[in-house]
Amino acid sequence: MQNTPLAKTNEILGMDTDEVLGYTTSKVVWIRDRWVGACYYSLVLMVLIYIIGIQVLCRNEHFELKDVRGLTRLWYSYPTLSNCDPLKEGCRSDYKSLTELPYCDQYTGPLDTGERGHCAYESKLSMVPGGVVDNRLFIPTAVEILTEMQDCTPSASNNYQCGNEYIIANGSDCLHGNYQCSTRGGKKNQFFYVADVKNYKIRFTSSFDRDGIRGNSLMLPAYVGVCDATIRKGNKIKTWSERKFSTKNAKCKDSELKLEKIPCEFGVDCAEMHKFDILEDSGIGVAGKEFTHRIDRIREELVRRGKNLSDPDAMLTEIRSKRHRGLRRGREVSKRWAGRASISAGGGHKEDPAAEWYGAKKEYSDNWGDVFTIGRLLQLAGADLDLDRNMDGWTTRQAGTALEVIAVYNNLYPILSTFGYTPVQYHYQVNELILPYVSRAQVSRAQPHDYPKSRISEVQYGVMIHFKVGGSFGFFSIVYLILMLTAAFALTATATTITDGFFLYVSGQRDNFFHLKYEVSPDFSELWECQTCNFMNLPEHDECRGVPKFSCPRTTPACGAARSKEVEGGGKPEEAEASASS
Ligand SMILES: [Zn+2]
Repeated sequence: MQNTPLAKTNEILGMDTDEVLGYTTSKVVWIRDRWVGACYYSLVLMVLIYIIGIQVLCRNEHFELKDVRGLTRLWYSYPTLSNCDPLKEGCRSDYKSLTELPYCDQYTGPLDTGERGHCAYESKLSMVPGGVVDNRLFIPTAVEILTEMQDCTPSASNNYQCGNEYIIANGSDCLHGNYQCSTRGGKKNQFFYVADVKNYKIRFTSSFDRDGIRGNSLMLPAYVGVCDATIRKGNKIKTWSERKFSTKNAKCKDSELKLEKIPCEFGVDCAEMHKFDILEDSGIGVAGKEFTHRIDRIREELVRRGKNLSDPDAMLTEIRSKRHRGLRRGREVSKRWAGRASISAGGGHKEDPAAEWYGAKKEYSDNWGDVFTIGRLLQLAGADLDLDRNMDGWTTRQAGTALEVIAVYNNLYPILSTFGYTPVQYHYQVNELILPYVSRAQVSRAQPHDYPKSRISEVQYGVMIHFKVGGSFGFFSIVYLILMLTAAFALTATATTITDGFFLYVSGQRDNFFHLKYEVSPDFSELWECQTCNFMNLPEHDECRGVPKFSCPRTTPACGAARSKEVEGGGKPEEAEASASS
């Protein structure tokens, strides 16, 4: 547009570089009003608190979650004295007396479940003859022994056809119809409960592996997830429909889940959680170590030269002792126990701390895993062997049930994980998977003398325990972080929209606000059109003021064409054309 010779040097291929490289930007309005600002900034603050505070810091949404995989091992035992291994020589069992078990005939206490029966102690091998090979373990709670007689042998006389191979002998004294009869085929005690099954111990051990994070449960501190809403209170009987209802509705929310540390077995040092250390976890410590290392060398150098360094010396000892605190923590446990033992040996009180510890009957971690009693698992799942009923009115002890035990692994913690604190921990979560019957039937190993004329088979009802590894590990993901920040920006735009909307349409200053925000054009149909450049001009102007687009209205001369006489002010373009042609 410029015709000065100097401008020619700023041209490329005949185009003005100032135009080719012109920059476009938006024009914004600065409104000097504290209320508009307060509204906008409080909305932005809410967005930041939600995205940065809640989503990123508390919920760790900027970590990519990957499911944990692993293998499991189950071990079980009947109650033993001092939790000894039942397969070890000299290990003695620690069953409760039948007089203390409300479901046994011999019970002498005040409780009445109405479903008493004969009780028998089962030893480890007779209970689960096959042993534990899978991640499932079946612990019988009630056993019915069926005596069966051979019905007939296929031969020419019965046309090689039998109604039944075996016929079950008639029973009497039955708990439910023809089932669970205590007398069958002339023999007594053909149905019995497994005595003290609630105190059977199960040890859970699991390994985990996901993308380089691997190990086993023994290396980590163990927790048990306790949900107060699930644990039942009182001795109320639960019917099948109530059980179905609570299975459907009693979901434990994350906020309700309490993690309780599983104590270590008496005298055992089990893994402890390392505390958050901003220097070590965030990686600043690596730089710090280099720094102290350098100071060490300088100090040695100075000592060599014979300088007096009493102060820095003390400082460095302090730093070192702090760094080695982690190593010492493991030893504190054993010291504590040793201390307690010596106090009791000192004669102040005669109590044996070991007996006290074993008397508590809670879950514990030992050198090989985490041990729970069946009673505790049922309690955590909100189930009860004597108070729960199935649709036929059988108690869970008679009909059986299934428990799902999950070792939930996790490495994310609110706030701390963002600063690099990601040690692995796990907790146990126990759910009851309600099934009307859980049982298995098998032909007994010991058979009567006249076998196969008559035979004995066993139906065992019991608790099926399914143990699996669950949970997820979080891995920092820059893509997820960007996604979070993008969401923050999108919500900030919403804050602008809300502020604009409020002050444009609701507030008392809406007209001020509107005119600051919008530039209003004249009504185009009331303008007159220049015949030369088609620019629309105001009726009050008699000369065209048209300036081509992308030109400055101050430095570019206006078109200047006179207003055509035939076209009157306010004339519409179509009318103007019509009058021009006539
Ligand atoms: Zn014009």
